[in-house]
This record gives sequence, structure tokens and C-alpha cells, in this order.
Amino acid sequence: MSDALDNLHVLYRRHQYDPDGEATCLKCRATYPTRAIRKWIDGGTTAVCPRCRLDFVVPGRPDPAWVERVREDIFAPFPGMAKLTPEEAAAFTEALSRPVPEDGE
Ligand SMILES: [Zn+2]
Repeated sequence: MSDALDNLHVLYRRHQYDPDGEATCLKCRATYPTRAIRKWIDGGTTAVCPRCRLDFVVPGRPDPAWVERVREDIFAPFPGMAKLTPEEAAAFTEALSRPVPEDGE
């Protein structure tokens, strides 16, 4: 459990934003330019994946083996979550998220 909590500290936070950088999603494993990130939740501080719309985005292009290990930690409390469709994942995120105003760019 402590591993999973520690791993949450690696999520992409807005104060780390680099417009010329890359980001990788732990849920769908996509890597994309940070410019593709359009939404930030938790009061505008946490990046949301533009592909699967979950907030499991980390900076850069991490080692795939590390991604797989972190996925196991993060998704272990949510059986089946790693197999959600984008629509299901979005619904899950909405359920977990406090309503926060869109803050645009
Ligand atoms: Zn994703």
C-alpha cells in the first residue's frame, strides 16, 4: 500500500509542466507531447490523459518495466480497472473527482 501511495507522487503536476516535453499515461501506456494535455483536475494541478481521460499521467517517457510495476501497484485496489474502455474510465474518473471548474490553458 505504501508503494502505491508513493507512486502517486510521480503523477504529472502542473507546476512541472514543460510545453516541449513528453508525458506518458500509466493506464493506456500512451506517450505524447505535453501539449496534448488539455485538462487538469484536483483544482487544476493534476494532468488528465487526453487519450483515456484518466489522471495517471507521469512526466517523460519512463522505462516500460517501471510503468508495468507501477501499474500493478496503482490498479491493484481496482480489479479490472486496467481493462476499462475510455468511456468507462471517464465515468470512473468523474465519480472520483470533485467538480472543479475548467481552467482552460
Ligand atoms: Zn491514458
